Amino acid sequence: MKSEPMILDGRKVAGDIQAEIKTEVENLKQQGFKVPHLAAILVGDDGASQTYVKNKIKACKNVGFEYSLLQYPESITEAKLLAAVDRINEDEDVDGLIVQLPLPDHISGVKVIEHISSSKDVDGFTNENYGAITSKRPGIMPATPFGIQELLKRYKIQIKGKHCVIVGNSRTVGAPMSSIMSFHENATVTICHIYTEDLASFTRLADILIVATGKPGLIKADMIKEGAVVVDVGISRIEADNERGYVLKGDVEFEEVKPKASYITPVPGGVGPMTIASLLLNTLKASRQRHQS
Ligand code: NAD
Repeated sequence: MKSEPMILDGRKVAGDIQAEIKTEVENLKQQGFKVPHLAAILVGDDGASQTYVKNKIKACKNVGFEYSLLQYPESITEAKLLAAVDRINEDEDVDGLIVQLPLPDHISGVKVIEHISSSKDVDGFTNENYGAITSKRPGIMPATPFGIQELLKRYKIQIKGKHCVIVGNSRTVGAPMSSIMSFHENATVTICHIYTEDLASFTRLADILIVATGKPGLIKADMIKEGAVVVDVGISRIEADNERGYVLKGDVEFEEVKPKASYITPVPGGVGPMTIASLLLNTLKASRQRHQS
């Protein structure tokens, strides 16, 4: 009889990482070093973005980081937002800066992200940090792919030589994930996206399947190989008759895929908390590089 799949418990692993960071912050304080400081920019009043930023701030509090939250109305001009980024770039006290995406349509997200100093870009979104993955230069890894890599490592899942299929080729998740799995972990990588013909013929070949599309329930049981490791990055709010008015759903049909998988991430509680843990690790790294080198 097939054994139950292992749940890749991102919430637990992220909790372990936060405890490690907290100890590190206490050590820094004892040695007279500065405590890492994360600044977050939030534009507009989108409910999901507010929740994501709130969770990031909560994590900073938990590990003992300093933090600043800069909130701007939806109507802020691009020039004013770029000026705000400039001020944080120049602020000696701030080690890391994140700008919560998406931004309103009248503001270029690409322009704003590229404006962040690469040494403070703790989401790892700038071209400088993106390029660092493929050239293996020291840089700041994109938070979500870095979190997934760390989650797989902490569960001692073999990656080297395995076939990793990634569904989604976005600049912030799918594309850097493919580079990390290929250049850093030596997996054989296939990247699929919205224009991939016969998606299932690729996903069925995956030893490790990573899905980041934002299409709830896209991956069904008949699309995966028996014993595959399944990582679900997607988070969509689906209207529901409950107190919050919605439930969170991933890109994978969890209940039907679970019996075929060897390991699987839940949504919520899988990749999400690992992204926040990576953000904290990146901020710690950025702070060390600025103040201890
Ligand atoms: P995106 O919209 O930028 O990219 C979506 C990608 O999915 C594109 O490459 C597109 O080609 C592909 N795609 C869309 N529909 C598809 C289909 N039917 N078949 C195959 N490919 C398809 O999105 P993103 O920023 O990469 O985010 C993807 C999902 O991951 C979203 O649900 C987002 O909320 C979530 N996300 C979660 C975390 C986390 O920490 N858990 C972090 C970032 C993003």
